[in-house]
Amino acid sequence: MRQAKLLPIIHHPAYDAADLPDQHRFPMRKFRALAETLVADGLVAASGIAGFHVPAPAPESWLALAHSRIYVDQVLNGTLPASVAKEIGFPLDNAAAGRAVAFRGRCATAGTVLTATLALEHGIACNTAGGSHHARYEQGAGFCVFNDVAVAIRVLQADHRIGSALIIDLDVHQGDGTALMFANDAEIMTISMHAERNYPHPKAESDIDIALPDATEDSDYLARLSRLLDELPPRLQPDIVFYNAGVDPHAEDRLGRLNLTDEGLRQRDTLVLSHCRLRNWPVACVIGGGYSRDITALGRRHSIIHHVATKFWSNVL
Ligand SMILES: [Zn+2]
Repeated sequence: MRQAKLLPIIHHPAYDAADLPDQHRFPMRKFRALAETLVADGLVAASGIAGFHVPAPAPESWLALAHSRIYVDQVLNGTLPASVAKEIGFPLDNAAAGRAVAFRGRCATAGTVLTATLALEHGIACNTAGGSHHARYEQGAGFCVFNDVAVAIRVLQADHRIGSALIIDLDVHQGDGTALMFANDAEIMTISMHAERNYPHPKAESDIDIALPDATEDSDYLARLSRLLDELPPRLQPDIVFYNAGVDPHAEDRLGRLNLTDEGLRQRDTLVLSHCRLRNWPVACVIGGGYSRDITALGRRHSIIHHVATKFWSNVL
């Protein structure tokens, strides 16, 4: 196995759909802030985009492996019904902002496909977007246009690069779209640990759901996660793990209901990556949700997973 010098980190400038206004409820600028943080911290080799692995936008054929062709066409053509665009929370019409959000969805999805490809090659890789876990087969929802993890799994399966996968989703919201998409798929195990009273309502049924009470703090959260990992079936041997490292369980998150600290998130990511790497499971990391008005702090918080993954990459831990 060829070992690159630095952890493979995937980024595309279009992750920040710049045509979306700054005051939109979704903190779109965080993707650029995250990339800048990673460059400033030396986790990528060069400034600007040069140090990142840059995906080409996902073709329609990839998206249609996990979503209905009608929905994919509507998003790409700017003809999505207003009611569905409202459920997603983005202006997905044919105006500039809508086209930018659709293009962003294609890039972020391809980014997770590339992240998974590099994880299979190198053992671990991290996207700087992804984790659009509310998108289901028929349509998107909750700021999620295309379910990037589901698309990546179907692309890799179609190419016979994987058979099975494990999805560990620690975003504070339940991964309902992902759970629905793989509900009857014995090859794909879905785990979601989330705030019980948070969106979505009602919840879907993952293979394992851990619903946490409001205001759960670091110690209880980490103890529960540790037990969850310890109790996974001993014979489990996924071809790849997708880890949704959403930072919205943080106490300062606008949409979370939990009370984790930055250090708690760091320990959480360490627990997950340690469990996977000890078993030689390739891990593709996606960043998931994070909703804070302080974009600099949010970009830095999202970089925790890249820092933790870099430590595993360097065999420091
Ligand atoms: Zn979330």
